[in-house]
Amino acid sequence: MFKYDLIVIGGGILGLSHAYHGLQKGLKVLLIEKNTQAMGASILNFGQVVPSGFGVEWQKYGIASTRHYLDMASKSDISVRKEGSIYIASDEDEMTLIEELHHINTVNAYPSQLITAQQCKEKYPMLKDDYVKGALFFPAEINADSRKTIPAITHYLVRGFGMHIINGKRIVDIYETENEAIVFDTAGDKWVGGQVIICNGSEYQSLFPEEFPKEDIQLVKLQMMETTPQHKSMPGSVLTGWTIRRYESFSECPSYSRIKADEDKTSLQNQLGVHILFKQTASGSIILGDSHEYATIDEEHLLQLQDNNQSINDFMVAEAKKIMDIDYTMARTWAGCYSQSKKGPIFHKKIDHRIHVVTAIGGKGMTASLGWAEEHINKLF
Ligand SMILES: Cc1cc2nc3c(=O)[nH]c(=O)nc-3n(C[C@H](O)[C@H](O)[C@H](O)COP(=O)(O)OP(=O)(O)OC[C@H]3O[C@@H](n4cnc5c(N)ncnc54)[C@H](O)[C@@H]3O)c2cc1C
Repeated sequence: MFKYDLIVIGGGILGLSHAYHGLQKGLKVLLIEKNTQAMGASILNFGQVVPSGFGVEWQKYGIASTRHYLDMASKSDISVRKEGSIYIASDEDEMTLIEELHHINTVNAYPSQLITAQQCKEKYPMLKDDYVKGALFFPAEINADSRKTIPAITHYLVRGFGMHIINGKRIVDIYETENEAIVFDTAGDKWVGGQVIICNGSEYQSLFPEEFPKEDIQLVKLQMMETTPQHKSMPGSVLTGWTIRRYESFSECPSYSRIKADEDKTSLQNQLGVHILFKQTASGSIILGDSHEYATIDEEHLLQLQDNNQSINDFMVAEAKKIMDIDYTMARTWAGCYSQSKKGPIFHKKIDHRIHVVTAIGGKGMTASLGWAEEHINKLF
């Protein structure tokens, strides 16, 4: 039986990222995805690639990922656009935080520009006058149309690098011998590899469930909406005041603790984990979100992953209307789910010499996976 150097289980962005770096090293790679194509968080997300949202340690993975996306985009259309990211401050506290983050990034040589309320209005004429106080712009950042980007990267790896892919097979068992690891699907078909990396996203309990302490990982449900195409242009990833108060990068700002301490923890946005983000797609529609509800694997049923809670969507639209004057006719709404480690930025475990689990990268997978996987593959091969 043919032996692959690397078998990757799961065709989301983490799996693709490991496959990509394995292929760059000339390895024979097989990717196995249980659906006809990846269907998880990686295609349900915003597609914002925002290293600016991370603390210094993870920002480097986001910057490396950006470089890899752009390199792929220079060779094949993977539906990514370099339009920058902008954080719009709505009050004095948020202004303080963007000024402090600008300073941190200047010291770290990551390009950012403070811009005035007037400059923001010129760039985004639909921005409400009484919302914007100023903004911080990151010109190097990109965004992806994830529903297209994930299949496009998959296709690029198959066509450009000879990656083997098997769709529609769910892996249910893996064991290791002295020389190889063998993976089995539900029908008992098997494949053999030197190393196996499992990137099964929020379905992490489907393989080696005993390896995941229940309290260490949580599931997070996010609600999202997409408007009908707009006649106005809204370039880049647009992040607003509550994002400034939420993203990890701002927690490294000197004033963050003081500002957070003054916040009303019982406010609806804090209880629902809502912050308002906008991203225009290539077709002109605007993706709007998002909310965050949390549960352990035992409480998964409480999240009602198949349902969209209309009152949360109504709240997000009402808040978005205070920020941007656009057409809020919705073309579709959906909920996505990711797994998130509570003990660190990612769950990474070596099950045996040849079997590795990598999951629970949380809300940063589109931004950081390509960078993180590069380091992981370099350690393994
Ligand atoms: C609504 C939403 C918005 C987000 N926005 C952003 C954003 O703007 N920027 C950002 O950086 N991150 C964002 N994220 C987070 C990001 O999408 C995730 O971190 C990332 O997609 C996780 O990728 P993954 O490959 O681990 O998981 P997934 O994308 O879930 O992929 C796992 C894959 O494994 C397959 N699989 C599972 N079990 C098996 C098995 N036994 N055999 C074979 N295949 C299997 C599944 O079918 C699936 O395709 C967002 C997430 C959501 C839900």
